Amino acid sequence: MNIPFNKPYIPLSSLKYQILAALSGTIAGNGKYTRLCHRFFEEQFGFPKVLLTTSCTDALEMAAILCDIQPGDEVILPSFSFMSTANAFLLRGANVVFADTLEDVPNIDPAQIERLITPKTRVIVVPHYSGLACEMDRIMELAEQHNLLVVEDAAHAVQSYYKDEPLGSIGHLGTFSFHETKNIISGEGGMLAVNHEPFLDRAEIIWEKGTNRAAFHRGEVDKYEWIDIGSSFLPSDAIAALLYTQIKRFRKIQRRRKWIWWEYHEQLAPLEERGSLKRPVIPEHATVNGNMFFITLPNRSQRDALLDHLRKAGIQALFHYFPLHTSPYFKDKYNGPELPNTQRFSDTILRLPFYHSLKKREIKYIVKKISDFFTPPQTP
Ligand SMILES: *Cc1c(COP(=O)(O)O)cnc(C)c1O
Repeated sequence: MNIPFNKPYIPLSSLKYQILAALSGTIAGNGKYTRLCHRFFEEQFGFPKVLLTTSCTDALEMAAILCDIQPGDEVILPSFSFMSTANAFLLRGANVVFADTLEDVPNIDPAQIERLITPKTRVIVVPHYSGLACEMDRIMELAEQHNLLVVEDAAHAVQSYYKDEPLGSIGHLGTFSFHETKNIISGEGGMLAVNHEPFLDRAEIIWEKGTNRAAFHRGEVDKYEWIDIGSSFLPSDAIAALLYTQIKRFRKIQRRRKWIWWEYHEQLAPLEERGSLKRPVIPEHATVNGNMFFITLPNRSQRDALLDHLRKAGIQALFHYFPLHTSPYFKDKYNGPELPNTQRFSDTILRLPFYHSLKKREIKYIVKKISDFFTPPQTP
């Protein structure tokens, strides 16, 4: 067997809208399919306003501009994250301050945030790892007390919830990814959710190179002009058309991904009971959105040995996130304390193959091979 880590779900019929977009004669940004995608997310999840971007990285960069980060401002985020979470703010001259994760969930620890807040702190960025919600009530409370902005890095978190609230809709801003490894995809792609009223107009201006072109499109102004800083954050409508096909299949895709998640969860239960590994801890306030399935091993050498064992069986599993604070780029700039939970998750997490067409028998095969690792089959 050969089971890759990811296989993007792009049925042939999904090219239909791209062809239609191409034939329509306009495939620049903010066209028909972009607007259809916007409407879907705003209606489905109640975001006041969303803007498609060319990546979640771009959405994070827009967030940093909207937060009006000035050189020297401090931004608190977990070390256990993707580098874009930090880069977006570093690009605007911020000092990033790394927090540790919780002990049982690889999400930022609110107690750590509280300890790291200084008079220079402006923003807290909270990634919801694998779509499991961070402790948003505590985080929003801290933000309110200290007059800070909250950006939810919801790259993993489409259609996941904190209590009853969709992730990405709770902080002042939320950022999503449609990279081919995420739930719904357009190859590269992303989205900014703007939840904070004072940001609504400016978000659209930054999105369109610092111009009021979007308002011009709607006929609200009679010419468009350069009125602020910005960049070209908007994707071509051909990309939006590809995303739109995924949206058309959103329920189906999500049903399938959640099924895979719970299948792994159930089949791996005996191995957890035997103490061989741990399945993800789902906080009471969180939901599962079928973003990825990860297990944690007792230590790094076992995790690496299991990765190797699976690779030999044709199964491509992966580790996740080297801590940002010990990365080659940052390690000489870091002067904070050790972050033991971050280090432990980085050492022990193993992500299993996860994609739309993954079959029940393939999941069984994967679990069998994991089980064999702990109790090798007896050879006569
Ligand atoms: C994937 C990911 C990103 C970046 O998404 P892109 O769309 O590839 O830019 C940012 N943050 C987290 C937590 C991610 O997993």
